[in-house]
Amino acid sequence: MNYDVIIIGAGPGGIFSAFELQRTAPELKVAIFETGNSLEKRVCPIDGKKITSCIGCKSCAIMNGFGGAGAFSDGKYNITNQFGGTLHEYIGKKEALELMEYVDRINLEHGGGGTKLYSTANSEFKKLCMQNGLHLLDASVRHLGTDINYKVLENLYSKLNDSVDFHFNTPVHSIKLIDGGYAVETDKGEFTAEKCIISAGRSGSKWMETVCRDLDIPTRSNRVDIGVRVELPYEVFSHITDKLYESKIVYRTEKFQDLVRTFCMNPKGAVVNENTNGIVTVNGHSYEDPALQTDNTNFALLVSKHFSEPFKDSNGYGESIARLSNMLGGGVMVQRFGDLVRGQRSNAKRIEEAFITPTLTATPGDLSLVMPKRILDGIIEMIYALDKVAPGTANDDTLLYGVEVKFYNMEVEISERLETRHKGLYVIGDCSGVTHSLSHASASGVFVARDIASRK
Ligand SMILES: Cc1cc2nc3c(=O)[nH]c(=O)nc-3n(C[C@H](O)[C@H](O)[C@H](O)COP(=O)(O)OP(=O)(O)OC[C@H]3O[C@@H](n4cnc5c(N)ncnc54)[C@H](O)[C@@H]3O)c2cc1C
Repeated sequence: MNYDVIIIGAGPGGIFSAFELQRTAPELKVAIFETGNSLEKRVCPIDGKKITSCIGCKSCAIMNGFGGAGAFSDGKYNITNQFGGTLHEYIGKKEALELMEYVDRINLEHGGGGTKLYSTANSEFKKLCMQNGLHLLDASVRHLGTDINYKVLENLYSKLNDSVDFHFNTPVHSIKLIDGGYAVETDKGEFTAEKCIISAGRSGSKWMETVCRDLDIPTRSNRVDIGVRVELPYEVFSHITDKLYESKIVYRTEKFQDLVRTFCMNPKGAVVNENTNGIVTVNGHSYEDPALQTDNTNFALLVSKHFSEPFKDSNGYGESIARLSNMLGGGVMVQRFGDLVRGQRSNAKRIEEAFITPTLTATPGDLSLVMPKRILDGIIEMIYALDKVAPGTANDDTLLYGVEVKFYNMEVEISERLETRHKGLYVIGDCSGVTHSLSHASASGVFVARDIASRK
């Protein structure tokens, strides 16, 4: 065998697997194979001047490389079992929380010290939400900020680089069962190991499907979340974000009884493009450094769609809606809330005259031509509900960018040790369908590393 453990993917799941293996079983020979670049070489070519929109690089600098999908993210580590994944259903609530707290400590020791931990529990705002038909979920939130998050990753990399073999720009094409372990096929040849941890994230979801087919690992289709990114002046939400930073608020619509929720709140942040498998969607982030902050706050409003038989391709459904917005807008589309409710397309003039400056250059358009009515009606209802706890949310000039899609990987059948039916083959992080956040993905990495160390 070339290695004791091969890790596929250098996102939070892969990084924390390697970190914990280095700490608990330093004698093991560990390698990480990663499609993307090392951290310092991850540069998106969009410079806003020569290149203004996505050119579809072979490996996306935003999604792939050391740090994974979260490398340029806001670095919000939500320490909770209430959202961000269902890791607790496999390993228990207590252990899941303890692991997320452990990850938080590691981040603090590696450059995150001094960042703020917010808590939503028992806040005045929770009461206000209840009084207005909104439900605020409980969580502790560590906000590293995009800049500190990057520093933490730099520090973790230099620590891991002492003992872990990194193979960047080396996608794993396939995994084979061999006598006593696994062989991974890459452009640089075949590498073998006794144990293999797959942590290929959301960008590796299609590849993961082929792995499960090849190795006969059962899967279940999952869900997709569809919605918009809302951008408004910072002041509208400041009474909430100053105290809680991130608030996850859930609302049940009157019309369809659907659940709409806020997601990824970025005070003084920026709206950004996201490229998943060539489809441009929208996301947001914010910096800890005041010099890099903006005058706006952004957050997503999402509606989850769960499909029943015979339809299985929930991600395909989300992709089709995102493709429609790409077709009409050449990328992401933006519309003023006032234009949306009046049934008119936003145009460049109306966006320019608005009392808010968009942080993302997007094509003014009409979201009602893209989003299914049921989803759009739910979003409009929630904006009016939020207006009661944050007056100004339903202002005409509130900007809605579309579409935001949260793709979920199919759920891979794994045991309570996060191991597949093949002994020593683990599937963790977002590609397992079990996690969809930095903290849960990282915690799943620590969990399997400890499992491997304990079974040595
Ligand atoms: C813009 C943005 C902002 C976000 N902000 C937050 C936030 O603030 N808080 C939060 O909790 N979550 C956030 N998320 C989500 C979070 O980043 C993910 O949940 C998390 O990164 C999942 O970690 P992971 O290790 O499972 O997968 P990823 O981080 O996706 O890492 C997987 C890695 O595997 C590599 N890979 C894929 N296939 C292969 C292959 N075949 N061979 C080799 N390598 C492969 C990929 O290149 C990638 O680097 C954000 C995501 C984005 C895109």
